[in-house]
Amino acid sequence: MAALERQHPNADTELHFKTPYELLVATILSAQCTDERVNRVTPALFQRYPDARALARATTAELEPQIQSTGFFRAKSKSLVGMAQALVQQHGGNIPPTMDALKELPGVGRKTANVVLGHALGVPGLPVDRHVLRVANRIGIAKADDPEIVEQQLCAVLPPAAWTRTSDTLILHGRRICKPRPLCDQCAVRNDCDYYRAQSPKPGGSR
Ligand code: SF4
Repeated sequence: MAALERQHPNADTELHFKTPYELLVATILSAQCTDERVNRVTPALFQRYPDARALARATTAELEPQIQSTGFFRAKSKSLVGMAQALVQQHGGNIPPTMDALKELPGVGRKTANVVLGHALGVPGLPVDRHVLRVANRIGIAKADDPEIVEQQLCAVLPPAAWTRTSDTLILHGRRICKPRPLCDQCAVRNDCDYYRAQSPKPGGSR
């Protein structure tokens, strides 16, 4: 991880936000969508709905055209309004700082909860998205197809203070270098990578 952090210094979420509420909304919108596209939609959205109370009063019909460009806008509108109403009814409009309470909110799974805990609430969290899943398995620092198991494996060997930075670093590595077709010749950890070793020519072999 130290070598990867040198390759991707200051890795952080690329979603723009000022409050835990804003990050929760942006993370829900980021499902199956690029952070860049989400960042284009959220300034107007946050101006119109600056907090959970304002968003709880919105209708899905009103919200849909505003978030259409992020894809899956019907499901996301439903999640956003449901999430905001649950925040108002159960948490006084505030974002609860625990995994269990966050996961109870409509549209919020483990990954989204970890993003908000780690980046906006100062609670250690290690979000495992498709990039973390792919990169960690290729290097060999985790071995599982299930994101929750990969999260457990990484958290077990890293101090809590490193969890969120580790996720951010693996995500950036997955976006820039260890893509589905990996750019191994540009990778800082190729000498420690199971996948690279398995692809490399064997001494005396035909590859
Ligand atoms: S060596 Fe290749 S497969 Fe391994 S982490 Fe680097 S880019 Fe990914």
